[in-house]
Amino acid sequence: MSMIPDEIVEQVRDSADLVGMIGEAVELKRTGADYRGPCPFHGGTHRNFAVIPKKGRYYCFVCHESGDVFSWLMKRFGMDYPTAVREVARRTGIVIPERPGRSGPDPLEPLFGAVAVAQDWYTRRLLEASDAKVAREYLPGREISLETAALHGLGFAPAGKAFLTAMAELGLEEPVLLEAGLAARRDDGSVVARFKGRLLFPIHDLRGRVAGFGGRLLGPGEPKYLNSPENAIFHKGKQLYNLHQAKGAIRKEETVILVEGYFDVLRLLLAGIEHVVAPLGTALTPDQAVLLKRFAPAAILLYDSDQAGLRATFRAGDELLRHGMRVRVATLPPGEDPDTLVRVGGAAALEPILTDAVDLLERKIQLLERKGWFEGVDHQRDALDRLLPTIRATSDPISRDLYVKMVSERTGVSREVLLQQAAAKPAQAPAPPAGSGARLRAETTRRPEARRRVSSAERDLLRVLIKDRDWLMRAVAEVPAEWFETPEFREVYETLKRSPENAGSGLFLEQLSPPARQAWAWLDSIEPKYGTPDPDRTYVDACRTLEARPLVRQINALTRKLKEEAAGLAAPDFDALIQERSRLKQELTSRFPEEMLKRPIRRGDLDAR
Ligand SMILES: [Zn+2]
Repeated sequence: MSMIPDEIVEQVRDSADLVGMIGEAVELKRTGADYRGPCPFHGGTHRNFAVIPKKGRYYCFVCHESGDVFSWLMKRFGMDYPTAVREVARRTGIVIPERPGRSGPDPLEPLFGAVAVAQDWYTRRLLEASDAKVAREYLPGREISLETAALHGLGFAPAGKAFLTAMAELGLEEPVLLEAGLAARRDDGSVVARFKGRLLFPIHDLRGRVAGFGGRLLGPGEPKYLNSPENAIFHKGKQLYNLHQAKGAIRKEETVILVEGYFDVLRLLLAGIEHVVAPLGTALTPDQAVLLKRFAPAAILLYDSDQAGLRATFRAGDELLRHGMRVRVATLPPGEDPDTLVRVGGAAALEPILTDAVDLLERKIQLLERKGWFEGVDHQRDALDRLLPTIRATSDPISRDLYVKMVSERTGVSREVLLQQAAAKPAQAPAPPAGSGARLRAETTRRPEARRRVSSAERDLLRVLIKDRDWLMRAVAEVPAEWFETPEFREVYETLKRSPENAGSGLFLEQLSPPARQAWAWLDSIEPKYGTPDPDRTYVDACRTLEARPLVRQINALTRKLKEEAAGLAAPDFDALIQERSRLKQELTSRFPEEMLKRPIRRGDLDAR
């Protein structure tokens, strides 16, 4: 049996008459947009079995059996996947080209098979098992009914051995579980389940086969979200959540809505908005942009409205522009994400936000304007530095021309100069690092936020952690991320802390935003001025400085206040301030004895924020 190209499989599925085919075996009656009949899987007599032509899926509200036209034939008539595709193709008159030389069974079929079995089991577990109570309580809290969850294939992975035991009983052997990313081998050789105590979202390939899972931890621990590991069928940088279901709607709308999380996708689907996808818990990759471009020429980014959301928005936006898409940004009210907004206000709340989505560059300009970045020559240079990357990323010549014009009008910088500046660097963004940091070192290494004073204590501490694994491990236990007030430094540290084993690797660098990556490259490149400092000493000194910093700041603020306002203060207030200050000074010297404060606190240490 030769392999059938993905495009053909999609075409076959899209043209299949699902109602007609199922109608041959089940007496279906129309109810609204769907069809209902008795479920053939559990042999029901009531009309609990729904065929939803718009989604191309069937679903039983009693036994939760669900699938598409291919799984119908596989489950009802015992066909294997290629046979099912050929059968539907035959009925719809689509000719499947035979590819000579690629015959033989699909070697990946066993992995897809194992993941499908696991998904079934996880979903049943979510609906039925007593240990899934935590998930069954969690979902209603997010206003997702169990029926919705099951219809979208969500599941629950319990802690303990239940999963591996069940898979063994179903005849799935360890090697295939390991290869499919469902299990992992520990250092001592034992095999454990990959997902434990997590709510699982199935991630499908374009053919609609489950390829892996994204798992949200329910309960305390880290990491909050965990994906299937990269393997022969799951590629987190090349797949998108819900694309298999959304692609028809995306084509029809000629637009894809990009959201950050799985719940955002579900919420929009429930509100009847179907052209929505999410990346798999990471920044949008070039491969994902290529994939989206196949289905639509335009995208709307609907990310959280916080600082991190904005960063992710512009990063994803530049990536899409680079692949010739038109990009607009939808702006949510502060503190809202798509999930919360639609949960309260329904699709009606989202509609105006999507309609009012503005062009990516326009949005950047709005934000810079709001912060006063176009006032004064000094700031304008910085504003340009923020805008140029987007112009550079824009591969479509017409959009690029419009962007140059727009920026020229706002900043008063001539178009010629802008074009020259935009050309100064290659239009391609630095490729994501492949395995080593070496190529990143060639990138511009620049102090974070060029003109801002950088805390030398933060800088020195982070340098030690970057260079020395032992100190990093110690810091993970001792140093809270809040000590780093320079945003780029904090991001570098938080990323290190999350997965110290990746420090300095390509994977680590890939997780950093461009400014943090630059900061990292800068830290990695600076040479100490006077010989090699003792890392132990540097570590201890820097930690003390950063820990003492809030106290020192308070003392300094009081001193300033006493100096500036002494004349206007009533005597008792003045005395109270003096007392407060000496109390703080005492605390400082008792908590940080003089000899520990050998390194004077410099102004930069206090300024960084
Ligand atoms: Zn049923």
